[in-house]
Amino acid sequence: MTTSRDHTVTKRPASDTVGRGTASPSSWGFGDGQAIPWEYAPAPESREIVKLQSRYGLFVGGKEVAPRGGQWFTTLDPATEEPLAEVARAGVEDVDNAVGVARRAFRRSWGELPGRERAKYLFRIARILQERSREFAVLETLDTGKPIKESRDVDIPLVAAHFWYYAGWADKLDYAFPGRSARPLGVAAQVIPWNFPLLMLAWKIAPALAAGNTVVLKPASSTPLSALLFADVCRQADLPPGVVNIVTGPGEIGLALVKHPDVDKVAFTGSTSVGKQIGRAIAGSGKALTLELGGKAANIVFDDAPLDQAIEGIVNGIFFNQGEVCCAGSRLLVQESIAEPLVEKLKDRLATLRVGDPLDKNTDVGAINNAAQLAKIEELIEAGVAEGAELYQPACELPARGYWVRPTLFTNVAQSHRIAQEEVFGPVLSVLTFRTPDEAIEKANNTPYGLSAGVWTEKGSRILKMVKELRAGVVWANTFNRFDPTSPFGGYKESGFGREGGLHGLLAYVRLEDR
Ligand code: NDP
Repeated sequence: MTTSRDHTVTKRPASDTVGRGTASPSSWGFGDGQAIPWEYAPAPESREIVKLQSRYGLFVGGKEVAPRGGQWFTTLDPATEEPLAEVARAGVEDVDNAVGVARRAFRRSWGELPGRERAKYLFRIARILQERSREFAVLETLDTGKPIKESRDVDIPLVAAHFWYYAGWADKLDYAFPGRSARPLGVAAQVIPWNFPLLMLAWKIAPALAAGNTVVLKPASSTPLSALLFADVCRQADLPPGVVNIVTGPGEIGLALVKHPDVDKVAFTGSTSVGKQIGRAIAGSGKALTLELGGKAANIVFDDAPLDQAIEGIVNGIFFNQGEVCCAGSRLLVQESIAEPLVEKLKDRLATLRVGDPLDKNTDVGAINNAAQLAKIEELIEAGVAEGAELYQPACELPARGYWVRPTLFTNVAQSHRIAQEEVFGPVLSVLTFRTPDEAIEKANNTPYGLSAGVWTEKGSRILKMVKELRAGVVWANTFNRFDPTSPFGGYKESGFGREGGLHGLLAYVRLEDR
């Protein structure tokens, strides 16, 4: 069947919903199922640049060491479910050892090193990261499932930028906080998630080191490899042994690390439930704490917004990194008068997104990071349908193996629906409407979270009003998901507390004393 534009019309069966290996038409959908009559040729990035070890030990005291319990676990490529490598499963003894090593490095070298010397190491790390950026991008894509164009153009450049930025502060702490003297806290325990593994490492390690702290970092179990490659960068930069230590292992190891009595500062990024558990576990210990947790951001489009630009912002807001982003614009609030044309345009745009091999340079939406996350996303999509929202997914073929979800759009969403309330952490957008700015503010703030928001309008005064009234740590105006090392990031309410990035990010790693 053809249209006047010679586009094949493909109708999706009603049962064709989500998930791995679901049958679907073989061509890309376009709007209501019309297919683009041509395909992109495969453009795979070579994985040759990454030399995977079959096994990775812990990184403690500048050396790779075997876990004392002799246990290992496997990390998978989520796009193929093939094993990538075995990784050490640390035990409590390994954590204790790593914290002790970090403490000694703090006392004997790093804590007393002049800022200008610390800066040299950080600059060196930044330069090596840039030199090895392709290797890091490919490895990050293999381990996370994110598209190579994102790891190459967003994650890794931002990682290097964080090290450059905080390297610049290391010898200027006396000017950073006027009239006060900034002293390091000591040993920082840092636990990071799987959605931006190397970037979260940079957000945590760069300010900690610039301020003179030493660190023990635990990466997520499904994405430990870029942190372990970073260990190699530390060696290459001749960083004094023990300044950076990396322990891999399950969540309980993360808990043992943050509870360790010789830790002075805890920084965590991840789920709200684990954040609360950590908060309870260290309450009363006197440890400094920053928590960067979940979100349910509203992306608010007013009727005077440039629609095509807004469409790109909406797509970037929710489909960047498969929507596995704490600040993802997962609730689209559209002014009622433009809801219909906007949703039509959005459907057309969704149909052009290419889902598949994360190493292909044309891929827009990669694999979901792990099976548990896939199950969670599928469950919430099913809940959306069951609660009466209207599902739209463009026709697109999903690989037979790996963890995949089609870009998903829900219309007719009510505030009470789970998909409007809970963090999906996947490529799922819920569309709600509003009539007045006050209604938009009320709906946007009607969430337990408060991490980010977006506003699309041509009126500067309206932007200022919205920014003032939205209860979110970051508000983007006529853009979304923009990150910069100089700009603080963090949330309110169940999105956590404390800020990372900028001077605020440095403040989280120092004790201010009177001069
Ligand atoms: P978690 O919060 O469980 O994991 C984040 C990190 O914390 C990982 O390194 C994890 O280790 C570790 N961890 C797990 N349990 C504990 C604990 N009790 N004490 C200390 N550290 C712990 O996130 P999940 O991976 O389970 O994802 C679940 C949900 O969390 C997602 O669906 C999403 O909604 C949200 N999330 C939010 C993120 C954000 O950036 N705000 C990032 C990731 C997830 P291990 O990997 O070994 O379990």
